[in-house]
Amino acid sequence: MDSSSSRNDDLNLRDDESKEFFPGYKDVDAFVKHGLGSVFLATKASGGLPQIGDEFDFYRSFPGFQEFCQVQGDKLLICMSQIMQHHNCRSLMRDCNKLTGLEERFDLVVDSNDVILEKVGILLDEADGVNRSQQPVMPTGYQPPKIVVSSWNRKGSGSGGRSETFRLLQAKNIQRPQMKFKDKIDNSNTPFIPKIFIKPNALKPLPSYFTTQHLRKERPEDLDVPAALADLIHQQRTQEYKVDMFAHPYQFELDNLSVPDSILSKTEPKMYKPIEETSCQFIDTLEDLVALNEKLNKVSEFAVDLEHHSYRSFLGVTCLMQISTREQDFIIDTLELRSEMYILNESFTNPSAVKVFHGADSDIEWLQRDFGLYVVNLFDTHQASRALNMARHSLDHLLKHYCKVDSDKRYQLADWRIRPLPDEMAVYARSDTHYLLYIFDCMKAQLFDFNHGQPGLIQSVWNRSKDISLKKYAKPIFTEESYLELQRKQKRSFNTQQLTAFRLLFAWRDKLARQEDESTGYVLPTHMMIKISEELPKEPQGIIACCNPIPPLVRQQVNELHLLVQEAREMPLLKAEIAMQKNKGLLPIKKPQVTLFGPHDTSRVPDHTEPHVSANDLPIKEGVLFDDDQKSDNNIEKIRHLVASAKITLFEEPDVKEMLESLSVVQMKARRIRESFENPFRMYLPSTGVHVNENAKFDPSSKIFEISKRWKLQTMEQQQKDLESTKKAKAEAKLQAKKAAEDRQKAKESYQESLENVATVRQLAKCAKVDGKKRERVPSEVGESTPKPSKKLKSTEKNRKTEAPSEESFKPFDYSQSDFKVFSGSKSKDNSQFDPNKQSHEPRKKKMAAGKKRVPVAESKSMSYVAGTSNRGFRHNWPKK
Ligand code: AMP
Ligand code: MN
Ligand code: ZN
Repeated sequence: MDSSSSRNDDLNLRDDESKEFFPGYKDVDAFVKHGLGSVFLATKASGGLPQIGDEFDFYRSFPGFQEFCQVQGDKLLICMSQIMQHHNCRSLMRDCNKLTGLEERFDLVVDSNDVILEKVGILLDEADGVNRSQQPVMPTGYQPPKIVVSSWNRKGSGSGGRSETFRLLQAKNIQRPQMKFKDKIDNSNTPFIPKIFIKPNALKPLPSYFTTQHLRKERPEDLDVPAALADLIHQQRTQEYKVDMFAHPYQFELDNLSVPDSILSKTEPKMYKPIEETSCQFIDTLEDLVALNEKLNKVSEFAVDLEHHSYRSFLGVTCLMQISTREQDFIIDTLELRSEMYILNESFTNPSAVKVFHGADSDIEWLQRDFGLYVVNLFDTHQASRALNMARHSLDHLLKHYCKVDSDKRYQLADWRIRPLPDEMAVYARSDTHYLLYIFDCMKAQLFDFNHGQPGLIQSVWNRSKDISLKKYAKPIFTEESYLELQRKQKRSFNTQQLTAFRLLFAWRDKLARQEDESTGYVLPTHMMIKISEELPKEPQGIIACCNPIPPLVRQQVNELHLLVQEAREMPLLKAEIAMQKNKGLLPIKKPQVTLFGPHDTSRVPDHTEPHVSANDLPIKEGVLFDDDQKSDNNIEKIRHLVASAKITLFEEPDVKEMLESLSVVQMKARRIRESFENPFRMYLPSTGVHVNENAKFDPSSKIFEISKRWKLQTMEQQQKDLESTKKAKAEAKLQAKKAAEDRQKAKESYQESLENVATVRQLAKCAKVDGKKRERVPSEVGESTPKPSKKLKSTEKNRKTEAPSEESFKPFDYSQSDFKVFSGSKSKDNSQFDPNKQSHEPRKKKMAAGKKRVPVAESKSMSYVAGTSNRGFRHNWPKK
């Protein structure tokens, strides 16, 4: 449990500290019991109502039922309006527009729930002595902060792991700290690789991958070759280190760590030094950091906490580290010392010193992600609080409980990037660790007492803490299915068009967030994304109207977004179609039409009509599509190309599973590069699913999935036949040499015939070939943002928030959806690639480029990919052990 979930615990109604009397009820418990009972009954009753799409439609055909529903519905609306009015919320539930009414009402309910639950939270805090109603304090000179209370109803929508349910502060005019980072931020859609390169306190040496400087430092994007190739080279070179690359560097040490005696012995709590009498050192130089590390090496326990910023960064940045010993407090400017922080690994992994954190889950990940720091011998007071069954598990509560300190949580969500750090914020930050060692003492003693003087309980807390320190940071990985995860959480049903819009917006947002190094919530908050998807505005203005306030990047790229929405609107509405078919009494499933295929598709031509041509009929050279290697002497093969057989090898279709399995990594890679060329013949190929609406496969109400499955089976059969006929053809060709003249005549006829049709296709093919060559560099420019199948990822990893696709589920990524301009500066080209399936994209690209020119936005411009050599010279000499 991390600290955010401990905050959720704040909502627990079984707060034993409030003892109020409710009219009509003996005590709080009686009231809660009654309330829960009513809620339970109501839920049960609503579950028993006829379901939409099931009995409801039948019942509705009776006027009596309709009337009853109307009356009850109105009653409920009135009741809800009254509750909302009571809480001073907008409550015009009944005056809503008939068409959009449901959504508007839903929004009203969501908003009201937010307000009510927020009040509940504040009241619970007040009951607990925490005053949250104070406004967050910001340093003078900054604009008044804006508090965004994101919805309780939509919580858990963030991809960054932390719940987005709480207040977020936006402070303007803060320099992006990323600009100063010595090491580039890696927002690429590739798994995180530990940053560690020196391993103090090692029982098992650091794998050579991390210590071999040239390997470690060599990132695919640094190689001076096209990125796809660079990736391949990089992967080749790192192949043998794969296991090491994703392992926890201190796994062995942690596995072999036994509970230190200091934990197992009962000691008297040592009172904290009064804060006024304690020195607090602000550390922003390397010398001071080294000195601090020396100090920490000498103590047997110290407390640690971090402050973090996640709004204006894709992955988030750790802004401050607070450390307290029994004697002193330290605040480290981790923005300044980001690439030097690793030296603390010496004290952080020292097994004989206890590191006390409160709710370390996120901290452990941030330490790894930003500094390559690990913790050996962790004690998490949040875990202790759980073991002790405390009423609440937040740090504020522990401070109040053990130290009688009212912590001022106004700064918790302040913008921790602000420099110089305002005094008030420093005071707040410091109080997060200052008392923690004393709290640790008290909890330890209590854990003993709880367990009749036995160390069992404390041992279990320590073990839980160890599990937390074994957590591995996992970067958010974008896959073709990511949007579905988010969509599922929203518990809203989308039709095909809406779901398409959601998918496109999701991909746009992810791409842009990585590219600009902003959080996805900054680029386009999820609730706005949903609103746009639901409304599918016809005009760009409509998109703006869905967003309040308008995110800068939405404003900047509204034309791009509009085109995405348009693309979604063009999707056929499956549900409606199926319903219509049902109404007409037609069979819902129709066999796919052969006419979907062009005349060049021989896969559907019956066996006996093949081949049209004989061995003697020499093909015209330019008729041989893509025959680059000139190796093939088989004229029949060439002729088969000529009649535009669907087997064009340059553009293999990706769906051959057993083949993939037998491929080596290199072959797989090569395959991917090849697949990144778009196949102008895709629509003519039998095995593609392009005629089946991709979304239909996910639409539970549609039969399309079945159709597409059947379709695949069918095409597989065809392919089989095809293959057989090829063999047959060869044999026949040899046998029928005598009939050459006759056959030639036939072939000429058929060729003449096909030529008429082929002509355009051949042009396209040529075009594609030229383009393909031009585009050879394009996949290379895909660079960081191109979602790749994460083959490097080990799916066995525990504790992962983002399960990345495993090697087995290798699925080539559709490069046509990538932004080739990403990270490539001005390299972008206007690609006039022809793709029968993607024509609608063309104008978009142009417009987008124009849009970008028109609206320069200073703040959102990414400055995080500052080139510059990392200043690691010093590191080679440190630490000398
Ligand atoms: P803390 O451990 O309470 O000092 O929190 C560390 C960091 O976690 C803060 O700097 C915030 O960035 C983040 N954080 C803390 N509480 C919340 C919250 N309620 N919602 C979102 N982020 C939070
Ligand atoms: Mn913390
Ligand atoms: Zn803190």
